[in-house]
Amino acid sequence: MKIALIAHDKKKNDIIELAKCYKDVLANHELYATGTTGTLIMGETGLAIHRMKSGPLGGDQQIGAMLADGQLDLIIFLRDPLTAQPHEPDVSALLRLCDVQCIPLSTNCSSATVMLEALKNGIYFK
Ligand code: PGA
Repeated sequence: MKIALIAHDKKKNDIIELAKCYKDVLANHELYATGTTGTLIMGETGLAIHRMKSGPLGGDQQIGAMLADGQLDLIIFLRDPLTAQPHEPDVSALLRLCDVQCIPLSTNCSSATVMLEALKNGIYFK
């Protein structure tokens, strides 16, 4: 599966912890991420990740373009619901496209854990 990983700044530690916990699961899939998120996860886990631009510089839109083209199968986007984001329109557009394409999306650690546990147990979302 093609999986995108994105985290707002205050959620970066959370996505790194998730990636560490589920490294063996994630390693079986093709991974994409926005710039900073991808760099941090690669540095902490050694996972291979295709990196887009940083989210505020267009990375969310690049992930959105992949979604629109049917090129992604699952999105983990750990959002910070308590901090205003300069690129909020891009964030909203990305979430909307997940619903347009019926692509599974998790926006917090708990739902991301459910998804990753499912992947670990061979449950796919297509
Ligand atoms: P980043 O982008 O991984 O480059 O920080 C994430 C975002 O804020 O959308």
